[in-house]
Amino acid sequence: MGNLRFDVVQEAFKKKAVVTETPAGKPSDYFGSLVFGRSNMRKYLDSKTYAQLTRCIDEGVPLDAATADKVAEGMKVWALEHGATHVTHWFQPLTEGTAEKHDSFMNPDGEGSVIEQFDGKSLVQQEPDASSFPNGGIRATFEARGYTAWDPSSPVFIQDDTLCIPSVFISYTGEALDYKTPLKKALKAVNDAAVPVCQLFDPKVKRVYSFLGWEQEYFLVDEDLFAARPDLMLTGRTLMGHSSSKNQQLSDHYFGAIPSRVTAFMKDVETAGYKLGIPLKTRHNEVAPNQFEMAPVYEEANLANDHNQMIMNAMTRIARKHGFVVLFHEKPFEGINGSGKHNNWSLGTDTGVGLLNPGKDARSNLQFVTFFVNVLAAVQKHNGLLKASVASANNAHRLGAQEAPPAIVSAFLGQTMTDVLRKLLEVPSDTPIVIAGKKGRRVAVEIPEIFVDNTDRNRTSPFAFTGNRFEFRAVGSSANCAGALTVLSAAVAQQLTAFKADVDKALNEGKTLEVAVMDTLKPLIASVLDTICFEGNGYSDAWKKEAKKRGLDVENSVPKIFCQFTAPASVDMFTQLGIYSKKELEARNEVKWDTYSTKVLIEARMAVRMAINHVMPAGMEYQRRLLEDLDLMRQNFPQDYETLAATQTTLIRECAALLSEIKERADKLNDARKAAESKEDSYAKAVAAEKAADILRTLRESIDKLEEITDNALWPLPKYREILFIN
Ligand code: ADP
Ligand code: MG
Repeated sequence: MGNLRFDVVQEAFKKKAVVTETPAGKPSDYFGSLVFGRSNMRKYLDSKTYAQLTRCIDEGVPLDAATADKVAEGMKVWALEHGATHVTHWFQPLTEGTAEKHDSFMNPDGEGSVIEQFDGKSLVQQEPDASSFPNGGIRATFEARGYTAWDPSSPVFIQDDTLCIPSVFISYTGEALDYKTPLKKALKAVNDAAVPVCQLFDPKVKRVYSFLGWEQEYFLVDEDLFAARPDLMLTGRTLMGHSSSKNQQLSDHYFGAIPSRVTAFMKDVETAGYKLGIPLKTRHNEVAPNQFEMAPVYEEANLANDHNQMIMNAMTRIARKHGFVVLFHEKPFEGINGSGKHNNWSLGTDTGVGLLNPGKDARSNLQFVTFFVNVLAAVQKHNGLLKASVASANNAHRLGAQEAPPAIVSAFLGQTMTDVLRKLLEVPSDTPIVIAGKKGRRVAVEIPEIFVDNTDRNRTSPFAFTGNRFEFRAVGSSANCAGALTVLSAAVAQQLTAFKADVDKALNEGKTLEVAVMDTLKPLIASVLDTICFEGNGYSDAWKKEAKKRGLDVENSVPKIFCQFTAPASVDMFTQLGIYSKKELEARNEVKWDTYSTKVLIEARMAVRMAINHVMPAGMEYQRRLLEDLDLMRQNFPQDYETLAATQTTLIRECAALLSEIKERADKLNDARKAAESKEDSYAKAVAAEKAADILRTLRESIDKLEEITDNALWPLPKYREILFIN
């Protein structure tokens, strides 16, 4: 009997590398060529329109209808020149990924022909019939329609044949239905809170920017092997599969030579990214086999997040040209590393100062320490909420599992900054903080000069300081970064506002700036060192106990973790900052619970079907052959067949036992799934779905054991050793 799996594996192995897109010239020649950025604006708009649009972008001044028409006209001309035929508002609904609804530029001219048209109204606003996007009941209760509105701070771009207009997605009653709207509000809140703090040190500061540098991890799987795995096709991860003999033990994949088919894929992605103005910088193999990473140079956070969404779309499309499927799932394979999306985050001023960089003199170092400590205090106060911002059905397989990071949010500072903070607690508040080697008059607190490259790494920490930024490592690879960034930004904004009020009070009491700032910082420093700061092994059980003692949130259940969003401290913060109303928070939690249940229950259904339709028939066929063999033994060696066929007998028993265990667990999983599906309430359903997820894990164990003993030629599903090592 032929085995389809072998054919698929052979085909996949034979594939060769192809670069499908080789533009002439160097990246700087075509960087941003598919973006309607400033240079194209200048070229395609008259000078008055250009000036008005840049004011709209830079200062948030609204666009009047006449100007919008002119902008639309210029965009249209540019888009048509670049082969675009359609236009869409491009937005980020609460599903993962982006949404678009294409409209053609074409319009009947009334005389039997068509002309290409695009006006300001269509540029600024669109009404997708979007009733199927998750909205947590907001639109059902209030107003049936939602609309998308252009976010002029993100540049318009062309994807394939379509002009894409980055947009927010809002209900008619004004509630956000997407990721971008709250992110923009949160970034504004940080600016509003941080500018007054900066002005304590430098009155010239007018604006504070948030920066994001994401590191996108992903797996590549040959598309033929992918197609032979229904679980990968439908759920994005393998629901079963025995680990292969060789995994990542040798660490030979990490930073290894990139396979040629993968390099070809990366080149095409980079070309596409450069044309879209995405400054892709780094590419390398990751720890697990067939796992890779891509990272750009960091950018303003809203733009960086759009770019992340854009490149994920591009990667998905381009992978198919190379016979791959790209997996963004956080945990596609058990037993090896999953994928994250480290969010490197920092703040900087319009005067060019990085607020998480040590400065050149005592005052700028004090500013650095101010921001550094306030970020930690914000993370301390909202550690549970930050965890909620990265929690999902997918990420649950990473968080809390034996892999970075644990389901507890702590911060890693490194020895240098830990020492600096300790020292600051000991010295008088007016002691200058200097860089070593550039000693001031009364040196007490020193920051080593070579600092950025000097920070030690702790891979087990979910929130680590890395010299000039914090790295939020708990974010999932498939997630929209805005979820985590909105929470982090809100927490920092709230903390900075409280800090500024306290400093003002101290200044009013007649203290000098240095003393006022340091007196306010000291209690915060003492508190963060005792709670959120942790330099040890985040995977250890000892840490879980210790974290609980320190009052950190140690909840492990994803549906319960989401409750953080509607906890009083969170509602107060978000409403005071004008980021979310209570109604929005409640609606979003409905969406989170529903998404969680839906994913888990699809997996449950899929696993049961595969158990019954793929796995058990293979096991039974193997069992039948063993029984045949046993029968032949008895016929030919009636005297001592029992001794001769002892192995067959043992195997038959093992096989039979596993088959009945699989059936039993599959039935149990089905019952748990149905029980969850019968729940009306979203939260109750999610909690019930979590039980199904636990049973799925036990079903998988039995299946993987059966895979281990069954004749290789009979196993119908591509195995880990095939999926993970062919590229
Ligand atoms: P790692 O060693 O952590 O894997 P990478 O080079 O892969 O580092 O990625 C680091 C990411 O951090 C890049 O996207 C980089 O642009 C970004 N980054 C560097 N400095 C800052 C900063 N000050 N603020 C935000 N992001 C930064
Ligand atoms: Mg990296």
